[in-house]
Amino acid sequence: MEAPIKTILTGDRPTGPLHLGHYVGSLKNRVQLQHQYRTFVLVADMQALTDNADNPAKVRQNVAEVVMDYLAIGLEPKVVTICLQSMLPELAELMMYYLNLVTVARLQRNPTVKEEYRRILRAPADTPEEELRELEAQVPAGFLCYPVSQAADITAFKAHLVPVGEDQKPMIEQTVEIVRSFNRTYGQDVLVEPEALIPQIARLPGTDGQAKMGKSLGNAIYLSDPADVVAKKIKGMFTDPKHLRVEDPGTVEGNPVFTYLDAFDPDVEKVQGLKDHYRRGGLGDSVVKKRLAEVLESFLSPIRKRREDYAKDPAGVMRLLKEGTDRARETTASTLASVRKAMHLDYWP
Ligand code: ATP
Ligand code: MG
Repeated sequence: MEAPIKTILTGDRPTGPLHLGHYVGSLKNRVQLQHQYRTFVLVADMQALTDNADNPAKVRQNVAEVVMDYLAIGLEPKVVTICLQSMLPELAELMMYYLNLVTVARLQRNPTVKEEYRRILRAPADTPEEELRELEAQVPAGFLCYPVSQAADITAFKAHLVPVGEDQKPMIEQTVEIVRSFNRTYGQDVLVEPEALIPQIARLPGTDGQAKMGKSLGNAIYLSDPADVVAKKIKGMFTDPKHLRVEDPGTVEGNPVFTYLDAFDPDVEKVQGLKDHYRRGGLGDSVVKKRLAEVLESFLSPIRKRREDYAKDPAGVMRLLKEGTDRARETTASTLASVRKAMHLDYWP
């Protein structure tokens, strides 16, 4: 007998268009695995509101942008179920039940949430750690609890595998704890324990050399950026600050230009050759950047072209999202029914 097909759930916050970091961290795995797994991709608009409550128009506008990015990179809407979080009310209900299984202290310990506090609180980069801890109480409760919302998303689809970047690892760990606690407390194997699928390049750095390329950090190359914008961003990229003259030996580690080549250049030997030459000295940054510009252009130009085609029919894109959401709802409703039953909340059929 064939093993039953396993499920993938993952998603993105509609806070802006998707970038190379999303591709490396998660989108690439989604595209590669879409025919092997039953795949659900969630546009997490409720989660986007946890730190954009004052700007719902931005979230609304980016929903279609993110879906267009999905289609442009090759997620097939007939194969993958693309759905919208706020139109799946079961997710919010599940979160409400899970909140009782998590302590405030556990939420406050989540390293990714802590890392994001600075941005949420608009605290300057040099704000001391103690001051930040004092400000902690000012973080919206919804933001503190968003890992629980992610646990609801993952478990609603009974996902086995969650393809995500490294920053999301603590969320999957927290989800596993909630699943175990739920199954222990309510005495049934209702929920499925998920596993994170984290790629080799687990976190793509920003063009400025910061550890993470992020929509909210202003250091991203977007999948939808026009060719001249990409070229300009590459020209301005951070490299080895000690590599001042062409003859100087340069450092490859932590140099984002080389990390991007590792992620996108199909000619691995050529990249190795460039790295060796750079380390020895005698290879200028502009030569390495020129190679990167070629590589990224051949990666991005078909994506850009497909995206332009979808952008001509935004209503059609939203229709695909609605169809996906209607399909997804069958699954979330069925999970919620078994959760309610396990919790003795099945009052009437
Ligand atoms: P925001 O700044 O609004 O949080 P973001 O750029 O961090 O946006 P998310 O929507 O939070 O994007 O992340 C969606 C997915 O993309 C997650 O799986 C996350 O791990 C992955 N991801 C985002 N940025 C990177 C990156 N620089 N490297 C690897 N994976 C990334
Ligand atoms: Mg993020």
